[in-house]
Amino acid sequence: MTTPSTLLPPTRQPPLTFGRLLIGYILLALIPYIWSATQGLEYRGIYATLLTVLNISMFAALLAQYPLSGRIDKLTKYTGVDNGMLLHRKAGEIVGLFFLLHPVLIVAPRLFIAPQKALGDMWSSIITGEVSTGVYAWALMTVFVLMSMYKDKLKISYESWRISHGIALVAVAILGTDHAVSVGRHGRYNAYFDAMWIILCTIAVGIVAYTYFYRPIIQKRRPFNLVEAKKIGASDWSLTIEKDGNFPFEFDAGQFLWINTSGNPFNRTEHPFSIASSPTSLPQISFIIRELGDFTSNLDQLKPGQRVFVDGPHGVFTLNGRSASGIALIAGGAGIGPILGILRQIDDLGESRPVRLIYGNRRYDQMVFQDEIALTEKKLLDFKQTLVLEEPDDQVEAKTGYISKELLAEQFTPAQREAWIFYVCGPPVMVDAVADNLRKIGVPESQILFEQLSFD
Ligand SMILES: Cc1cc2nc3c(=O)[nH]c(=O)nc-3n(C[C@H](O)[C@H](O)[C@H](O)COP(=O)(O)OP(=O)(O)OC[C@H]3O[C@@H](n4cnc5c(N)ncnc54)[C@H](O)[C@@H]3O)c2cc1C
Repeated sequence: MTTPSTLLPPTRQPPLTFGRLLIGYILLALIPYIWSATQGLEYRGIYATLLTVLNISMFAALLAQYPLSGRIDKLTKYTGVDNGMLLHRKAGEIVGLFFLLHPVLIVAPRLFIAPQKALGDMWSSIITGEVSTGVYAWALMTVFVLMSMYKDKLKISYESWRISHGIALVAVAILGTDHAVSVGRHGRYNAYFDAMWIILCTIAVGIVAYTYFYRPIIQKRRPFNLVEAKKIGASDWSLTIEKDGNFPFEFDAGQFLWINTSGNPFNRTEHPFSIASSPTSLPQISFIIRELGDFTSNLDQLKPGQRVFVDGPHGVFTLNGRSASGIALIAGGAGIGPILGILRQIDDLGESRPVRLIYGNRRYDQMVFQDEIALTEKKLLDFKQTLVLEEPDDQVEAKTGYISKELLAEQFTPAQREAWIFYVCGPPVMVDAVADNLRKIGVPESQILFEQLSFD
């Protein structure tokens, strides 16, 4: 017999799918052009019209990037942090590339007819300062796009990149708006149109200020302290923090927090980690963290009792509000963090629906919380774990290889594939491959929820 999902507290609506979010973003970016088209401007040929559509819409798309990456809860509730960040990155690449080509596209027709004159005109508008804010915005954008593309090769730390990203985008928004309301308007648009750009730019810059200055103030009012950072496997740590005060703080299993251990909430050195505990663990919250780079390889430096500031909770990788006749949890490496959080909540709820956990790692010594999971297997009515190891190990009962299409097909019957909900979490490559394999064996897209442990 299955337990109805009403056992789970009713909660937020799941966010928009990526496709719907993309359509919404495109429509939003087109609004300024549609408005401009109602102003009865003279028709200047197909190329000029197309370029006007692109210039206006791409600038609107650029300004719409700020709300996507800002952590505004009321908005991320609909966009989802993952989808918002994915769109921010993908659309950012296209918008960035378009603005790099913007000066060339403007002179392109004249370049074919009279190349020397076209280049001469372009040069003179640069040196006379007529388009100076546009040139500065363009130069900044070029440096920024190149930095984003080569940040790994240039060995720029993630933190430095993030800070320069914020500063550069504020400067580009302000300079670009000045360019749009001066040179870009070509005397064709009325003051209302200029006011629209100025308002949109103010909102964009306001969102950056909100993220960088207001959110830290909120974090300061709800401090946490470190309880312990303990090594729990060959490459993983368990980190536990505790609320220091009576402030309200709620989360759902599977959500994530940005954690700042610098002692200063205004310091932008913070890292996202998924919560590995269930809400009943409050006032404590725990995480499972895999050693990877600067921060995660130095967790032994953290001292019990030290201040920890958190931003969140964020994300919708949760059980709430989702009904299905069974629950499949699929974790790769550190992806066990939120999956364990969800499993712990399932345990708290005394869930009687069938639950399966597929947990993959390179080696067995990387598997964490095996005793607790074995205990949960005994406690829950219908729960089973399957381990998947890349390196074969005779000492343990496990599948060898990756979480492949064949392995998934073997674990879930066609009826289960159609009716169950599938939670997948791990590094991006693993999540992409598993989600793809689930689709291939017939799991409907709407039944696959995933969390990638990276926004890159
Ligand atoms: C939503 C989400 C949930 C996550 N949950 C977990 C978890 O439960 N357990 C776990 O071990 N890891 C988790 N991660 C990954 C974790 O955030 C990174 O491994 C960690 O930040 C790396 O920091 P570092 O200084 O050790 O490594 P670095 O060498 O500085 O970074 C390595 C990579 O980690 C990512 N990264 C670094 N800093 C940040 C940041 N501030 N914001 C976003 N990405 C960053 C980037 O992709 C970067 O290229 C999660 C990531 C995301 C996006």
